[in-house]
Amino acid sequence: MLDFTIQNVLIATDDDYATVDVQIIDGGIAAIAPNLQAIGTPIDGKNKLLLPGFFNAHTHSSEMWQRGIMSAFPLELWLAELYDFAPLDPEQVYLSALGTAVETLLSGGTSVVDHLVLIPGLELETIAIATRAYREVGIRAFIAPLIQDESLSAGIPSGESTQTHEPYFRSTAATLEIIEEAVRQFHRPDEGINILVAPTGIQLCTDALFQGCTELSDRYNLCRHSHLLETRAQQKLAQEKYGCTAVEHLKRIGYLSDRTTLAHCVWLNDADIAILAETQSTVVHNPLSNLRLGSGIAPILKYRQAGVNVTFGCDGASSNDSQDLLEAIKIGSILHNVTDSDYQHWITPRQAVEMASLGGAKGLNIADKLGSLTVGKQADLVLYDLTNLSLLPRTDPIGLLVLGRPSNVVNSAWVNGKQIVADGKVTTINVDELRQELFNRSQWETKRKSETVAQIEAHYRTVMGL
Ligand SMILES: [Zn+2]
Repeated sequence: MLDFTIQNVLIATDDDYATVDVQIIDGGIAAIAPNLQAIGTPIDGKNKLLLPGFFNAHTHSSEMWQRGIMSAFPLELWLAELYDFAPLDPEQVYLSALGTAVETLLSGGTSVVDHLVLIPGLELETIAIATRAYREVGIRAFIAPLIQDESLSAGIPSGESTQTHEPYFRSTAATLEIIEEAVRQFHRPDEGINILVAPTGIQLCTDALFQGCTELSDRYNLCRHSHLLETRAQQKLAQEKYGCTAVEHLKRIGYLSDRTTLAHCVWLNDADIAILAETQSTVVHNPLSNLRLGSGIAPILKYRQAGVNVTFGCDGASSNDSQDLLEAIKIGSILHNVTDSDYQHWITPRQAVEMASLGGAKGLNIADKLGSLTVGKQADLVLYDLTNLSLLPRTDPIGLLVLGRPSNVVNSAWVNGKQIVADGKVTTINVDELRQELFNRSQWETKRKSETVAQIEAHYRTVMGL
């Protein structure tokens, strides 16, 4: 492995900045101090800011194929449309995983949690090809194969009516067997590829699936990842299904833990928040998706005051419709100023950076190895060019990065000490070829009609009082 020293680079100290050298040896941060001996290749850090890599802690890579075209629907109808047009070709999964990795890297992320939609009948192939894409790019990947064991219509509350749902096409046991096989074949944390157990959420999963995932998580030391209470409909559904809140139920069945990350968490009450704090679960905040689908504003300031760990995700590119992590961090910080007039609770740019880095590492149970510029930790690093027009004139570098609208500001990125972005370009794959492939395999589209939406929309409107 190549050792190197980043020289004369700006880093954040407790409440200021310092210009230092950073030595990287064997993929780890070996020393941080001014005027160090230049070990290995020297890297010019002058007028650049070095931060720990961020975590894109919740996304669905293959949604990239439908960004920009999804109807203005709430989640339950949006999902129906999404699945009616989901890509069924593993090659598309490969290309969108590459695209997701590139966009994440070029907006400050060095890790991605891909809640990966599996092609029916090609589940292991889907996981294999996403793994291949992430290995090729070199981003640290947390592949969370998205599983469920109830059919889509079961995710909508019944209300006054009696609803029957088609059984899911694959048994719970068969689904769990696929995940266990994926763990055997692909889970290689030391090589930057992790498999997570990832039942999609209470709206489409039985207790048997959650419990099977918990067992696999315990047996193989896997992190757990799910959506949680993204919409008001899910809050209502939880009451119908369990007679209590979804959080109370998940606690009762043992799913919540210090390695459980929960995407969205919009519709929780104060008692639920206390449970997240007590179980040390992590909230993944996806502000753009919550706005795009009208899901609501997650009570992020309450989480922080209760001591709940919070980090950021882009969510899939069909509900965002990009993978710009800096944008998610900006909106995810300032959105909450309107929810609490006590400005002392508002998220500062430095706090946002810590949430995006250390917060992600905590949620994935690797805070001892990642998430901060600390001697002894692994070198997942991003170097920002402070001479970029969007970061000028010079004021507070982190303020400019988080509150501004930075474009093309990532100069370099390393994962485990391996450089994968240099001079603002991903060096491991040919991004021009990727652009060409994405172009060739798609077309300009304006209108399309989801049959599933037509089937479920009337019931949805009735039960939600619309
Ligand atoms: Zn999601």
